[in-house]
Amino acid sequence: MKRNNIDMKNSKITEKVFEPITIIKSIGSISYNLQYPTTGAKYIDKRIAHIVHEICSDFNKKYFNLRSFFHRYTSKKITLLLNYETHIFSVSHLSLIFFETHESNGLSSTQIHIYHFDLKEDREQKAEDLMYKNFQEIAVSYTRNFFCETDFYKRELLENYIETLKAGNRFNRFALTKDGVLFYFEPGSILPEKHGLIRLIIPYEDMQPNVPLPSILQSTRPTSSQKINMHKPMVALTFDDGPNPIYTQIILDTLEKYKATATFFDLGDLMEQFPSVSQRESSLSCEVACHSYNHKNYTRLSDSEIIHDMNKTAEIFHKVLMQDPAFFRPPYGCCDDRIKKLVNMPLILWSVDTRDWESRNPETILNVIKQYGNLDGKVILMHSIYESSARAVAMLIPYLLDKNYQLVTISQMIKLKYGESPKDGKLYF
Ligand code: ZN
Repeated sequence: MKRNNIDMKNSKITEKVFEPITIIKSIGSISYNLQYPTTGAKYIDKRIAHIVHEICSDFNKKYFNLRSFFHRYTSKKITLLLNYETHIFSVSHLSLIFFETHESNGLSSTQIHIYHFDLKEDREQKAEDLMYKNFQEIAVSYTRNFFCETDFYKRELLENYIETLKAGNRFNRFALTKDGVLFYFEPGSILPEKHGLIRLIIPYEDMQPNVPLPSILQSTRPTSSQKINMHKPMVALTFDDGPNPIYTQIILDTLEKYKATATFFDLGDLMEQFPSVSQRESSLSCEVACHSYNHKNYTRLSDSEIIHDMNKTAEIFHKVLMQDPAFFRPPYGCCDDRIKKLVNMPLILWSVDTRDWESRNPETILNVIKQYGNLDGKVILMHSIYESSARAVAMLIPYLLDKNYQLVTISQMIKLKYGESPKDGKLYF
């Protein structure tokens, strides 16, 4: 890294899943903004540092000669942005995805690099060793069907999509997630640029070939669909205003630890900034629902402003999670008949208001909840953007489980307590 004049000490922690390293550096008109994870596994960390080094030196080779030119004659900047996301599958398999973006003159292009590691054995795995016979063909045909049969996408598919969706082209580049095999399509590759990066998860059931799966792909299906006992009391935890790259992750760590679920009412603009956090919510069998684009009070918006806000947010749900938002929680809980009609989704309020944003104190938050007494059938409102709330959750979940409560999602709660499937335009709790 020294050769690139990048200051390793200038790192700061921004995410919690693995310890991330962030390097921000400018040399003349060239800027670097690099993020990569450290896993604690010796070989893997060395390998990751080497990958980052290679990416930087290729970038430098490409732009170094231009540097003095840019520096002297123009104020144009060239930036190397390196972001990543990680997925853990079956305890020890880590997929690491690097997004390498070059920005210059207001133009940008992104390349995706994917690596596989075995965390337990501290070694790298080749993608080829994870693919079985017909792996790519199955993925190609699923992907073509998916995009051609989904109304939202089929109108927008680029002309050359058949060429793009061919085996060997993109389908040897994938991540293994808890929900399925995840494929990535660069902005502008199958849909117009404005849709950004496209992710498609193919469930393992649909990736099943006629030949036996390699052992790593057999132990699928994590926590989800836990059986709910009608005779046990149940509580739904809900978290608003995220995703937050630090505190939502801590809450998710706690949920994962106790194999518990919750419902997250996420904001579109933050989902755009931190898509991997919302994706993790979803991969832990939590429900991800909609809390508007950026928390405007809908009672103060015109009909067309509300529709625009909803559509914009729904588009982000498609982009990040490949699904429609299932529910809507109006910002500030402000709702009337006009909003119900325009939103046209089930609307969810709450029954226990922890006022966590006000106290910012884990003990106070816990006490507010305890003061409600019997919590059976209650929906608890918290926010996933405060450290104090994350710390409260770490105490609250073992407390609730100890009191014999089952933690359920909003859909489960509506089904069990209202005896119906959630209805569009209806206000619950
Ligand atoms: Zn809110």
